[in-house]
Amino acid sequence: MLERLDKRPNDLSAFWMPFTANRQFKQAPRMLVAAQDMHYTTDDGRKVLDGTSGLWCVNAGHCRPKITEAIREQAGKLDYAPAFQMGHPIAFEFANRLVDVAPEGLDHVFFTNSGSESVETALKIALAYHRVKGEGSRTRLIGRERGYHGVNFGGTSVGGIVNNRKMFGTLLTGVDHLPHTHLLTKNAFSRGEPEHGVELADELERIVALHDASTIAAVIVEPVAGSAGVLIPPKGYLKRLREICDKHGILLIFDEVITGFGRLGTPFAADYFGVVPDIMTTAKGVTNGVIPMGAVFVRKEIHDAFMTGPEHMIEFFHGYTYSGNPIACAAGLATLETYKEEGLLNRGEELGAYWENALHSLKDAPHVIDIRNIGLVGAIELEPIPGQPTKRAFSAFLKAFENGLLMRTTGDIIALSPPLIITKDQIDEIVDQVRKALNAID
Ligand code: PMP
Repeated sequence: MLERLDKRPNDLSAFWMPFTANRQFKQAPRMLVAAQDMHYTTDDGRKVLDGTSGLWCVNAGHCRPKITEAIREQAGKLDYAPAFQMGHPIAFEFANRLVDVAPEGLDHVFFTNSGSESVETALKIALAYHRVKGEGSRTRLIGRERGYHGVNFGGTSVGGIVNNRKMFGTLLTGVDHLPHTHLLTKNAFSRGEPEHGVELADELERIVALHDASTIAAVIVEPVAGSAGVLIPPKGYLKRLREICDKHGILLIFDEVITGFGRLGTPFAADYFGVVPDIMTTAKGVTNGVIPMGAVFVRKEIHDAFMTGPEHMIEFFHGYTYSGNPIACAAGLATLETYKEEGLLNRGEELGAYWENALHSLKDAPHVIDIRNIGLVGAIELEPIPGQPTKRAFSAFLKAFENGLLMRTTGDIIALSPPLIITKDQIDEIVDQVRKALNAID
């Protein structure tokens, strides 16, 4: 059965692919049939270096035996158990282990199945929290331009990527957006956090002044905006946001779906920046991307505020059929053990300087107008071809894939976020491949 599926099916029409130019793709499909550690194998037998951890998720590399075995064992023991008014030990155990690695004060975990669901859950917790505290007028949500918070209605509404929003009507009302922090002319070729732009956080004061704090529930930002092209916050920016939120009783949500589980060289971005949010969304790396799962971390005071009503009452009317799914939890526990045993949650710190120098060596490659990096993530921004945005980076992506490197592009930005098991030689290989691709395109 599995071998039969190593071959490309003749008919590709039924599967409507997500976030994909379907017509173009199906004329010249790119297919992956196997993976191990740092590499994919294509259906024509080529090895491709994974420069993106799949979709920013396979932080420990592919097909790690410990994780595979844990899934196999759990699937044969307790495959599924009802998630409501019923428990199974592994979900409680996994929540405990997650809290152990979480930033100080984030003591409770709500399980979901994806980043998008984590975001919806976080927004609903924020709204409901204010209500249980007797501040039900706090309903307004604030996101940020160029933010990506998944594709469900709440996340699309607080998100700030125009292509993701424009087809879907008015979305949620009562949503404002902070300005994005991508100051290309001032901060180009920054290493780590850029110098300029902390004052952009003060825009939150402007929004508060416009609507009054008593109407605002929460601010949600990605500490480092991933999908919009690795936009790193200016020095002091997140601290300033935290201060303004505290001043006005507004909850701060960090969407750590990409930055969580070691991407920046610390377990979470909150650790890197020394700023702890009230709610933190995660997914992807929580199971090494292997089984769909998300986890929302919540500050004790927020959780406890829900625990004050009559004991027989459900405290929070929200949840998913697969919240805390046993197989996902087994994958997650094995993932966490792998991260710990191999020091992966801090590997980005160890390799960060090498990664930084390697990426910035591309400064003089053709078309490059910015390079930025933090932990084990980075971006190379290309000058767009007038009237044909996205074309140049996508051509580089195709060329790199042909030559044996998987990277990701968004607009005219190449984003790189390799598995945290990467070696220095493989970092050099990524950089050589990117240079080769940039030399080969117009
Ligand atoms: N939030 C952020 C910051 C993300 O990067 C993503 C996915 N790239 C999501 C939410 C949505 O996650 P999912 O695709 O698992 O729904």
